[in-house]
Amino acid sequence: MKAQRLVLLLLVLALVVGLEAVLMTHLNGQTASAPVTPSPEPTVEPTQGPTPTPVLDLEKTKPNEAGEIPILMFHRFVDELDPNETYSDDFKRYTQSFSYLRELLQRLYDMGYRVTTMNDFLRNEIKVEAGYRPIIFTFDDGAASQFSMIEQDGQLVVNPDCAAAILLEFYEKHPDFGIGATFYVNLGTATFYEDRSEGPQLAGTLQQRLQYLVDHGFEIGNHTYTHYSLPNAPDAETIIQEVGHNQAAMYEQIPDYTFTSLSLPYGSVPSELFSNLISGTYEGVMYENLGIVEVGWDPSVSPVNPDFDPYSIHRVRATGFLAEDCDFEWWLEHERDPVYISDGDPNTVTVPEAYSSLVDQSKLGDKQLRIY
Ligand SMILES: [Zn+2]
Repeated sequence: MKAQRLVLLLLVLALVVGLEAVLMTHLNGQTASAPVTPSPEPTVEPTQGPTPTPVLDLEKTKPNEAGEIPILMFHRFVDELDPNETYSDDFKRYTQSFSYLRELLQRLYDMGYRVTTMNDFLRNEIKVEAGYRPIIFTFDDGAASQFSMIEQDGQLVVNPDCAAAILLEFYEKHPDFGIGATFYVNLGTATFYEDRSEGPQLAGTLQQRLQYLVDHGFEIGNHTYTHYSLPNAPDAETIIQEVGHNQAAMYEQIPDYTFTSLSLPYGSVPSELFSNLISGTYEGVMYENLGIVEVGWDPSVSPVNPDFDPYSIHRVRATGFLAEDCDFEWWLEHERDPVYISDGDPNTVTVPEAYSSLVDQSKLGDKQLRIY
């Protein structure tokens, strides 16, 4: 049984890694999480998010902050597939319709999921309301269908036909769902832009596009400067250049925006070069990734789990036109125990007694552990 499972995972991994390699027709995306704002002083009125509940009804909310969190990985979107065209399976695995995204958001909302951000996850500052389940959205490669802008009546506005517009629209109707996603970009390639032969022309400068995302609660993350195939890196310099140049390019657009996480294009790097992904200096520009996210095939363990490795964060591929085992719809049907249920208070980690072995106390930092 264990062997079968291992074989399945290896197959899926091989498939997923291979796919992204084939795919490199430039899908871009990333989950933007809200820009890291310094935590407000305790005396300052909280601006958003759940108010810590002094008395939590544990039996009612059943929090389990040792549980798993899905981190969805999206690539690109279309209105629908053209019945007269042939698409590769890779295209169909990594592409879904805008209407699917709309329907998915409603379903997640109804199931009790609430949005958290990569930055909050990395810092174990999850602010989801008590009794609800955090979910993180990531978009790799900076595709225009993830986010783009158009001109309307002389104004630069978000293109209604993009994933970010759909997230913002849903948030407007359901503010308690939350907003956030991390967009992992390659600033050496076309980012949130493409030339179009029909439909509204895309508009705005790269700076305006990135700034719009940051101003609307999204995060930008590093996906290397040119979507470089990291497993092929011959030396440390190549990695430093790919990761550092992207940060340098980001500073040219938004001078104080520092990436805090990296999404690996294609896969990992040889272990002797891995430390260069975590931190380095490129032409005087320093970078440091608190987290490194993988292509992945399963939900992430909690940040306090003994197995949690911030440099190997698992993600789940959002289900495309071609659904497959271990993509997100599959996981919704094959839920793995335990799932993460928030206690509503980012300062405490609340875990049922039966799951207390899933907490590594050295990962608690200044959080208070509550076992019930
Ligand atoms: Zn990519």
